[in-house]
Amino acid sequence: MAGVAVVTGAASGIGRATVELFAERGFGVVAVDVAEEGLAELALIESVRALVGDVADDEVNDAAVGLALSEFGRLDVSVLNAGIGGAGPLESEGALGRLEHILAVNVRGVASGIRAALPPFRAAGGGAVVVTSSISGLRGDPGTWAYNASKAAVINLVRGLALDYAVENVRINTVAPGAALTGMTEGLLENPALARSLTRRIPLQRWSSAREQAEVIWFLASPAASFVTGVTVPVDGGLSAS
Ligand code: NAD
Repeated sequence: MAGVAVVTGAASGIGRATVELFAERGFGVVAVDVAEEGLAELALIESVRALVGDVADDEVNDAAVGLALSEFGRLDVSVLNAGIGGAGPLESEGALGRLEHILAVNVRGVASGIRAALPPFRAAGGGAVVVTSSISGLRGDPGTWAYNASKAAVINLVRGLALDYAVENVRINTVAPGAALTGMTEGLLENPALARSLTRRIPLQRWSSAREQAEVIWFLASPAASFVTGVTVPVDGGLSAS
């Protein structure tokens, strides 16, 4: 077996593409998601084990690592990709409660996932974490204030923890997608005029596939990136450079 990974937010989009890519390249994968249906399909892949659960729950993150150890005997990589948005306008009813939930999934869930992976990484002499942040964490976007806050927080959480655990050979990085075609963004493209105007803003003049995001996650998790830690890599067709 080439390695063993936990991937969260695995049932759809970037997480699903990551599970498929890692499995194709010889990894055993524990796929975690709240959505049971998408996971059931992934579990048909021989080297994939599915776990239904919410990353805001520490027990789920511990159970994912436990499953990796019991099924595959080790853990090399943790891809903490689960993420949500959708707080609505700041003055809408319940917006602050939705902010708390977004932070619980997008920030606390990542800290909890990293914490769960540390004991097996330590036992193995190191490991790699790749978090899915967003270019919305590098700048403001209209209408997504709570999501922007959570993704900026996770980018700096990764910087801090990368420094804390570098001495133990644990590398922690993020990919910052922009404009990937997934369940999260498909609604945006249903309006052709909006789709055209969003696409025009992307220097490469197109949206990425989930697979193109997964390839960069693979790189950051792999020995090819053995001297890379604490960074955020935009995978955004040039958006953040413009
Ligand atoms: P997606 O909606 O297709 O997939 C997200 C998956 O996460 C879903 O399967 C969902 O069920 C799961 N999930 C949500 N909350 C969860 C929880 N609490 N516990 C476990 N699983 C949970 O979206 P995607 O675009 O593939 O998103 C993946 C990551 O990429 C997210 O962190 C998102 O913020 C980030 N991102 C996406 C884009 C984009 O353009 N698509 C841009 C920037 C960042």
